[in-house]
Amino acid sequence: MLNLRKNIKDMAGYVPGFQPEGEGWTKLNSNENPYPPSPKVVEAIIAELVDGGGNLRKYPDAGSKKSRKIAADLYGYDPSWVIMANGSDELLNNLIRAFAGEEDEIGYVNPSYSYYGPLAEIQGAKIRTFGLTEDHRIADFPEIYEGKIFFLTSPNAPLGCCFSNAYIEELAPRCKGILVVDEAYVDFAAENAMELVHKYENLVVTRTFSKSYSLAGMRIGLAVARPEIVAALDKIRDHYHLDRLALVAAEAALLDQDYLRMTLKKVCDTREWFSAELRKLGFQVDPSGANYIFAIPEDRNAKRIYEGLYAEKILVRYFSDPLLQHGVRISIGTHEEMALTLKAISAIG
Ligand SMILES: *Cc1c(COP(=O)(O)O)cnc(C)c1O
Repeated sequence: MLNLRKNIKDMAGYVPGFQPEGEGWTKLNSNENPYPPSPKVVEAIIAELVDGGGNLRKYPDAGSKKSRKIAADLYGYDPSWVIMANGSDELLNNLIRAFAGEEDEIGYVNPSYSYYGPLAEIQGAKIRTFGLTEDHRIADFPEIYEGKIFFLTSPNAPLGCCFSNAYIEELAPRCKGILVVDEAYVDFAAENAMELVHKYENLVVTRTFSKSYSLAGMRIGLAVARPEIVAALDKIRDHYHLDRLALVAAEAALLDQDYLRMTLKKVCDTREWFSAELRKLGFQVDPSGANYIFAIPEDRNAKRIYEGLYAEKILVRYFSDPLLQHGVRISIGTHEEMALTLKAISAIG
């Protein structure tokens, strides 16, 4: 028999969001950005392919020095505080590998990003989850949390609520291990915790290019943390984790903040309009700082909404988890896509 490690044999594995086959779907289930990336990103990728793609013969810069410098300048840090990654998922994985051994505990809020659990299981780490109170604080968070890592998804996925910097400043000193603020969606929010990394030595902020920068297909993320933490993550990662096209895409995307602001405004405006329209239809929609909303129908029968939209080839996210089964998570697409969705929801009645 194969001698798989017991934790690997026992674990279910992460199931990524459904990617439908065929034409004609309105895809609002994976929080992808409806707008293309900056034209400068496309130009940079094409430029990297000059001379019949001759550059691709050569390994990429293993240290992603250029993009680290650009990100460091943008966020007000020395480059030694920044690491790039093959998607922010890589960072979450390597943070666990760096800080939590077998049987060590990691914690996070339930509901939040459903990938922390499988990553902890792969490592053989123990998991402790905490609920949320009505006013969006962590329920029963201990005076001192002894676990090796606490992941705080802010804005929360899939609820969209944000944890304030004041609250994060309360939590950081109460974490004996590191506090990772997963800011995958923070560009769509009013506040972010980036500047707090200067102040709290156990704080790590992770970001992704998959949502706000419209680059889910390129697999790019980054983290800001103390140089000691960045150095540890550099030891663990694959040497050439970012390919040449991803590196030039990251650089161009970070440099085009005007384009980012323009698409963010479109998505956020659409989010506010769509939320207000859904409330008129009787849905409960709490304010969201992300590019999705969590919508609760009056009769709390969210599965019916999911299925009704599916029949119209509109794909949203339904979670069978008892904590979430009363609502659907709807990614914010273009104004036209959301108008179509509203019409389909009205027709469900
Ligand atoms: C999308 C997402 C990620 C992963 O981002 P990638 O850069 O695509 O790996 C991490 N955390 C949360 C909360 C996300 O929603």
